[in-house]
Amino acid sequence: MPDKSAVLLHVCCAPCLAAVRTSLALARRDRHFPIAGLLFYNPNIHPLIEFRRREKAVRVYLERDPFPAEIVSEYGLRPFLGRLAVAGWPLDDRKKRCTECYRLRLEKTAETARSRNLAAISTTLLASREQDRNLVADVGREAAARFGVTFAEADLRLAEPEERSLRGIYRQQYCGCIFSEEERHRNDGKHRYKGNGIPHDGRIVRHQCFTKSESLSETLRGAPPIRPASASGEMNSPSASDADSGANGLRYP
Ligand code: SF4
Repeated sequence: MPDKSAVLLHVCCAPCLAAVRTSLALARRDRHFPIAGLLFYNPNIHPLIEFRRREKAVRVYLERDPFPAEIVSEYGLRPFLGRLAVAGWPLDDRKKRCTECYRLRLEKTAETARSRNLAAISTTLLASREQDRNLVADVGREAAARFGVTFAEADLRLAEPEERSLRGIYRQQYCGCIFSEEERHRNDGKHRYKGNGIPHDGRIVRHQCFTKSESLSETLRGAPPIRPASASGEMNSPSASDADSGANGLRYP
């Protein structure tokens, strides 16, 4: 018989997990649920290095607040894109895109709960103010029904996570998928190169690919020095022999 009281909680990230732990501690008895175990399953976080960072953050959090947990370390960009393809590539329709994303994660949670004989699932996505709570709940109920379990709802936004529990733990800057990363950083100037203050004429130095045994410094050795504009306003140009030499791997237009 499934354990009717225990919930398999899908975990999207460490900060939301910490918020759920605080909120459940404050919740009324009838809005509370016991957690039987955790499932970290977010294979569409992009890029891979960000996926690894968030996975590590959850592992570090669980060292401070231990709980039985399954961490799925398999990266799944392709299956996520496959889902979006089937859904007609709703790339600019955030609601449709997020529906597929919630479904991917919550169906896996429901399937896992059923295989462990647990009767219910829930998700830390409900704790995030960045997420569409009603949509998460709709998709959660649908995913749960598909696998014969129920979706446990509670107000998981009762409190912010305890700062202490997250000290030194990585916190993400965007929701997760490749599209949210682009949307988050599209208009911020933060990562734009502002120049080094040395005037130049805008020419781009083209270079050939380095072989594995060549280092950048070896390749640049002997390259003509970059000189600031002359008093007359003309830029110093490399000589024809420089341009044609190719000996250092550099070529100019
Ligand atoms: S914006 Fe967030 S919830 Fe929506 S598809 Fe991307 S990762 Fe999923």
